[in-house]
Amino acid sequence: MQFKPKVKAPAPEILQNMQAVLEKNTLTTVCEAAACPNRAECYARNSATFMILGDTCTRACAFCNVKTGHGRDVDVNEPQRLAKAVQELQLQYVVITSVDRDDLKDYGSGHFARCVQAIKEKNPEVKIELLTPDFKYHRDALGTIVRSGADKLAHNQETVRRLSKSVRPQSDYDRSLKVLEYYARYSPLHVKSSLMCGLGETKKELLVTMRELLDVGVSELTLGQYLQPTQKHHRVARYYPPKFFDEMKEEALSMGFLAVASGILVRSSYFAEDLGEKL
Ligand code: SF4
Ligand code: SF4
Repeated sequence: MQFKPKVKAPAPEILQNMQAVLEKNTLTTVCEAAACPNRAECYARNSATFMILGDTCTRACAFCNVKTGHGRDVDVNEPQRLAKAVQELQLQYVVITSVDRDDLKDYGSGHFARCVQAIKEKNPEVKIELLTPDFKYHRDALGTIVRSGADKLAHNQETVRRLSKSVRPQSDYDRSLKVLEYYARYSPLHVKSSLMCGLGETKKELLVTMRELLDVGVSELTLGQYLQPTQKHHRVARYYPPKFFDEMKEEALSMGFLAVASGILVRSSYFAEDLGEKL
């Protein structure tokens, strides 16, 4: 049986304004691309997640609805358009993520940094969180991110060790941990990661992964229910009740995470600014 979460529809004028600005500036948000169920809340709080570096990913994760293929040329004007959109939408907190660009020499890290710089130049008050790929643990790329001027760094672990290869075939469980460790070690910022629940993991495996995240220096965690985007994607092995997410939040906080968002509809960028404020 397909799970249908109850969500608030975004207020029409807020949604239309967001869509008009995105279209005018030819930008993509994860919020719109994934028709995220949290748009009503996030847009009303002047918060959004942008996806840079194109709409085509060089990887193909079993849970993700983003197009897979060869990467196109990097749009050098994207940082300026992004900065303009952030200004027009009066956003206060921006999450920037990207498709994986394993075809680029710097894996797209320089473009991330140029986006941060352009936004901050036009909107000095705006806080920026970067949710990055693993850059194949290329240290120059990771260093570029650490020095970018962002306010928070994140990389999603996504799932437990046993399921990682089938869920993210071109990624690597330990490499993701190393990326997070790099961010925690070489930047003064809080580092965040995210796990999906319902892919077939056990609670014990989730707790082991959470411990591993803590051990490499991750201080913020989000946990949410995996929902299958289409029939072709990884099946949902289990729908957890809200109580499970409440319990996991308690577990995570007692283990030592400083800020945790846990709930059926929680996504890595859900209430991103509030999560940080709790620190
Ligand atoms: Fe989707 Fe990211 Fe996987 Fe690409 S690397 S398929 S964008 S989850
Ligand atoms: Fe956008 Fe993230 Fe909010 Fe969803 S949770 S609407 S992707 S900012």
